[in-house]
Amino acid sequence: MIDAIEATKEKMVLACKALQKQRLLDGYGHLTARLSDGRILSTPHMPPGKVAARDIIIIDAQGNKLEGAGEPNGETPMHTSIYKARADVQCILHYHPDELVIVAATGQEIKVIANCGVHFYRGTPIYDSPLLIRNHQLGDKVAATLGDRSAVLLRGHGGTVVASNLDTLLRRGIDLVRSAKIQIMAAPLGALKTHSKTECEQMAAGREQANASRRHVDFYISEVLD
Ligand SMILES: [Zn+2]
Repeated sequence: MIDAIEATKEKMVLACKALQKQRLLDGYGHLTARLSDGRILSTPHMPPGKVAARDIIIIDAQGNKLEGAGEPNGETPMHTSIYKARADVQCILHYHPDELVIVAATGQEIKVIANCGVHFYRGTPIYDSPLLIRNHQLGDKVAATLGDRSAVLLRGHGGTVVASNLDTLLRRGIDLVRSAKIQIMAAPLGALKTHSKTECEQMAAGREQANASRRHVDFYISEVLD
C-alpha cells in the first residue's frame, strides 16, 4: 500500500509539472487523487507545479488533513464534494486557464470541432459564479453542475476536470484548454461544423481502452524530464 501511495504521488508530481510546462498551472490550482480506502492525496497550499512527492498531503473525505506538513487548499471542498457525488471519479484537477474563462464568459460550453474535444462531447456545463469554492455548500453546487460529465467550467474563475485515472486526467486537462483555444481562434470565422454525436461516441469508446492516452501522456511528461 505504501508503494502504491508513493507511486501515485510521483504521478501527481509529474502531471503538475507537465501542466505547468504547458502554462496551464501557475501559482494556483490543485490536483487530488483518491486512494482505495477513501482518503485523498492532495497537492498542498502552494504552486502545484513546484510540488515534490514529499509535499503531498493526505486528507480525509471531509477535507481534514491527516498527514503532511503543508495545508489543504482553500477550494478543497470542491474536490471532496465531487468525490462524494461520483464513485467513478478517482482524480480531479482544478485550474484557471484564461481560455476557459473566456469560453465560460460567452455562456457557451466547449464545442467539439477538433478531436481533442471529444472527451467533452457530453457537455461542459458552466457553474455560474466567480466565487471561490471554499465550503461544502458551494462544493456540492459545483458537483451538481458537473453531473456525470468530464469537466465543468466556472464562470470568471477556471475549470475542473475529473477522471478515473491520472493519465486520463492529464490528457483531459490539456485537451480541455486546447479545445477552448481552438474554439476561440475559430470564433471570428463564422459558423462552425462540430463533430456529430455518433462520431464522438465512436471516438470516445476508443479512448476508454487501456493505455489509450499513453502516447499523449508520454509526450507531455517527456517535456519535463531530462
Ligand atoms: Zn479556483
